Amino acid sequence: MFIKKCPKCLSAKINLFAGAITGEYHCQKCNYVGTLILEEEVDPD
Ligand SMILES: [Zn+2]
Repeated sequence: MFIKKCPKCLSAKINLFAGAITGEYHCQKCNYVGTLILEEEVDPD
């Protein structure tokens, strides 16, 4: 599976920005907002 990560602080606490129509993401940790995110493959374990 893949998890999304903030490109700024590398936190996984990132969600689609509420109400965003452009597909922007929001990081709950550093308040980063943008379309650029990191995706990292992790094992299910
Ligand atoms: Zn962040």
